[in-house]
Amino acid sequence: MKELKQLKRKNGHFPLKVILFMLLAAMLLSVSLLSMGKSVLLVKGEKEGRYYTFSRTIDDFISEAGIELNMEDCLLPAGETELKDGDMIIVRHAIPVTLIADGHEQKYWTHAHNVNGFLQENGIMIGDGDHVNPGFTHVLRPDERVEIIRANVEYVRQREPIPYSTLRVNNTALDRGIVKLKQEGAEGEKEKLIAVVEQESGAVSHNVLSEHIIREPVPRIMEYGENTILNRGGRNFEFSQALYVEATAYCPGTPGSGCPLNEQGHAYCTGSYNDGYTFTGTYAVAGDGSLENPHIIAVDPAIIPLHSLLYLEGYGFAHAEDRGGAIKGLTIDLLFDRHEDALLFGRRELKVYLFPN
Ligand SMILES: [Zn+2]
Repeated sequence: MKELKQLKRKNGHFPLKVILFMLLAAMLLSVSLLSMGKSVLLVKGEKEGRYYTFSRTIDDFISEAGIELNMEDCLLPAGETELKDGDMIIVRHAIPVTLIADGHEQKYWTHAHNVNGFLQENGIMIGDGDHVNPGFTHVLRPDERVEIIRANVEYVRQREPIPYSTLRVNNTALDRGIVKLKQEGAEGEKEKLIAVVEQESGAVSHNVLSEHIIREPVPRIMEYGENTILNRGGRNFEFSQALYVEATAYCPGTPGSGCPLNEQGHAYCTGSYNDGYTFTGTYAVAGDGSLENPHIIAVDPAIIPLHSLLYLEGYGFAHAEDRGGAIKGLTIDLLFDRHEDALLFGRRELKVYLFPN
């Protein structure tokens, strides 16, 4: 402007046309210069920045930005590509990493962020039980060493039994207290594929890789009786439970029963308790099995309470009024008036119904 002023002063007059022309030329120049510039995004590692550049190619831009690239570094798009407005330029510097594996030591240049990426980038296989040090997620720094400690792996197929379960089902046709095996259970079988891994340290681990069933187990099914109604002589009697007992017989051991006595006068059947009374104090006289005149039996009071009313299948009703040294658990002793009848009865299994007190 100083020059223009001087020019104006020297010539005295400065033509308007020239001024306009020069202004227009300046405007055109700046507009065309602006139109040649490009806005680009530079991504370098984890950093990024926006640049305004007049460079023609990516290579030009890289040198303009003062970025030094090694052979191993990665540039996207390729250096000779013409730069366009809005381009994204990615620079990934490679770092040297040493891999120690399978008896070799080798240097790699990697663009990977962590150990896992480095192994994948170079197609390095990691087997079952192999140990990588440092671990997969470790972020790599230049000149680091990555070691693979290979494991000795053996694959083993192993068969194992599958235990069966027990199902409980109710059966209304079966008397309460009676449990019946409806179906026997059977074990199943499965096969496991196991990787037996032996580390260099000598430690051995077993990894189950898969499991498949060869044979499903068959459940054991137990039926539980639900019926509580006993029908005898056209009448229904409600019982609390039915059970199977081992039955023997005895006589009161009184004179006239025919029960053998020893030198002390003790009866074979009742010992010194041969006074003609039961343990509860009733007369030790056999009944006929009717409801009015029930039999008398000796029981184990832990199983069948004394004074209970029972029904003995094939013999009729009975009262539990006696006990005996040999009558333990699921056993009863049926009273006969005569010793020889007791002998004839012997020993048999009986189903009995116990009525609620
Ligand atoms: Zn006797």
